[in-house]
Amino acid sequence: MSLLDQVFAAGVVGAGGAGFPTHRKLTGPAQWLIVNGVECEPLLASDRHVMRHHGDQVVAGARAVAQALGARALIATKRTYGRELAALTAAIAAQPGEVELRPVDSFYPAGDEQTLIFELTGRTTPPGGLPAALGVVVVNVTTARNIALAMAGQPVTRRLVTVNGAVARPAVVDAPVGALAADLVAAAGGATAADPVLVRGGPLMGRYLPWSEADRLGLGKADGGLLVLPGQHRLALQAARPVEQLLRQAQSACVQCQACTDLCPRYLIGHQIRPHLVMRATFAGGGVDPGLTDPLLCCECGLCELFACPMGLSPRRIIQYAKGTLRAAGARPEPLVHPEQQAERPGRRVPQSRLIARLDLERYPNQVDRLVVLEPDRVVVPLRHGVGRAAEPVVEAGQAVALGQVIAQVGLDEIGCLVHASIAGRVAQVGAAGIVIEREGTTP
Ligand code: SF4
Ligand code: SF4
Repeated sequence: MSLLDQVFAAGVVGAGGAGFPTHRKLTGPAQWLIVNGVECEPLLASDRHVMRHHGDQVVAGARAVAQALGARALIATKRTYGRELAALTAAIAAQPGEVELRPVDSFYPAGDEQTLIFELTGRTTPPGGLPAALGVVVVNVTTARNIALAMAGQPVTRRLVTVNGAVARPAVVDAPVGALAADLVAAAGGATAADPVLVRGGPLMGRYLPWSEADRLGLGKADGGLLVLPGQHRLALQAARPVEQLLRQAQSACVQCQACTDLCPRYLIGHQIRPHLVMRATFAGGGVDPGLTDPLLCCECGLCELFACPMGLSPRRIIQYAKGTLRAAGARPEPLVHPEQQAERPGRRVPQSRLIARLDLERYPNQVDRLVVLEPDRVVVPLRHGVGRAAEPVVEAGQAVALGQVIAQVGLDEIGCLVHASIAGRVAQVGAAGIVIEREGTTP
């Protein structure tokens, strides 16, 4: 079986957040393979755990992919991650082959795919294009580990999830895919805030959800973090504001200082994205300027609204809103690259420590060492894991399933992934939210 077939059979998707099916990246050839271990969102520590404790599997996965693509493998992580660098150095030394470790500075968003490519190669991904256009394939460190496990015939049935924020004992939780958010928070000692909200992902790019979702939300293969924040935290309050209110605020309070544009990481790699101009477009009646396609180049990192803007405005949310309208109209981004913008970049990268202080996240640990293994009696395994189509269920309610059995499938040529049973038991329900599996003896 080829590596591509092994990775497809194991249902591997990008574990860094987007969930792009990994087998679709293995069609090569490529010049560089970048293994992304930068994990730049504050409070998240799952990838760091993988690098410290499973560096051998990360390196084995990287070597196999590099060989399949004919690429040179670079593993990138932060210069400040001493224990991770030591573990990876030892793993590389123990395995013959060309794998190079490339430390990068600790800034946000150093782990953004296109920012990392620029940092390591000095090249700009074509606006609206893919890294493949530069001969680059990027996979996350946890994905690389999952590739090594796939080569041993092990499908993706578990993942490490950082549970952090307003919880009693922050932890990296080793959980089956589909573990409920409520069980993950309980594994971290429970919420400590009286009015908690859930964040699926990191504090900047994650999705803010009401606490009532905790008993329904089954975590997927691309979910590396689950945070709890007090409902009155400034990030939770900002996420809760409706876009109509944000548009009104933009019209009345944007002073066109351009700080949002000056610090935008995609602007700084040379793309034509100028959030201050998108904000200016709202002055003309709160609408979207169909001639201004800059929003299509936004990676939604949140730096403009959560760090740059001195007026507390939300350029990112307005850009998201405009992006939806532009996409629906079939607009395409400007293909221009501006080298003069790249020249401004060295002094404009935002150190992660300053970001953490600005976001009032210093009260929570930015490094989590505690590991908890979670074995719940019930999981809700999602049918969709990030981008791509939902898999088609191939099991029915009442059916017994074994650990690792395929329970939902897609075709090899489709953007999507196979889904496997993450615990052994009986299917309790098949629905839009996912496939509910309960261990035998626990069905009410
Ligand atoms: S969220 Fe803001 S800073 Fe980030 S890429 Fe989009 S416009 Fe730029
Ligand atoms: S940083 Fe804020 S005030 Fe300044 S241009 Fe951008 S949105 Fe307007």
